[in-house]
Amino acid sequence: MHTRIPMIAGNWKMNLTLEASKDLVGTLSADMKDLEGVEVLVAPPFTALGVVREAIDGTGILLAAQNMHWEKSGAYTGEVSPAMLLEAGCSHVILGHSERRTLFQETDDMVNQKVKAAVDSNLIPLVCMGETLEQREAGRTFDVIRNQLDRSLMAFKEEKTIPAATILAYEPVWAIGTGKTATPEQAQDVHAFIRNWLKETFDQESAGAIRILYGGSVKPDNVADLMSQPDLDGALVGGASLKADSFGKLLHFKDL
Ligand code: PEP
Repeated sequence: MHTRIPMIAGNWKMNLTLEASKDLVGTLSADMKDLEGVEVLVAPPFTALGVVREAIDGTGILLAAQNMHWEKSGAYTGEVSPAMLLEAGCSHVILGHSERRTLFQETDDMVNQKVKAAVDSNLIPLVCMGETLEQREAGRTFDVIRNQLDRSLMAFKEEKTIPAATILAYEPVWAIGTGKTATPEQAQDVHAFIRNWLKETFDQESAGAIRILYGGSVKPDNVADLMSQPDLDGALVGGASLKADSFGKLLHFKDL
């Protein structure tokens, strides 16, 4: 029997000044005094990693980047390497977010290279996947998710093993930043599908250990219902992670 510690992760995207970032984690860490059994992660923009790293020192809050390149160094203007993220204090990196895939033409193959590079550098990848509204309405959700899993995690499939610390996030594209949330049952169906894929592709041990977060307009008023589902192990949160009040409430989802 596995106990997967729930994680609430805030993806700040391209938001918040340095000052606002520091204030936010300051308030969050005060909110966490009586919090047990929940992991908290923040993913600020690259430029804020340094100040946030200092501000979270000793609080238990984990630090992630929102993206990275797979190469170690070289002529890749505008890119950041795995070693640079480690140096900046990151333990995790979000990869394959739908905004990267749709706005910046990131393919499953690129995500796969990034996932491999992250693990080779001892960064924990938080790998995102999800279907568009059109794909859902065409009844293709599970095919799309299976393809993204097969291709974005190809390196693990080839090795026939996946690190237990890997985190997956199901984020239906139609629910990101739109105010539309998947129902707890819709989310659970896809999470169960992903967990079964882990079991078939690797083994029961990996399927039981790997956390699958849900993302897509998670807010204080829907988080408890979502988290009551057996295969939801946490939330990846955009909008509601930008304010101390809503982020703080999400961390205390067990009391809502
Ligand atoms: C996200 O960007 O990962 C996300 C889920 O955003 P939001 O919570 O704003 O829908």
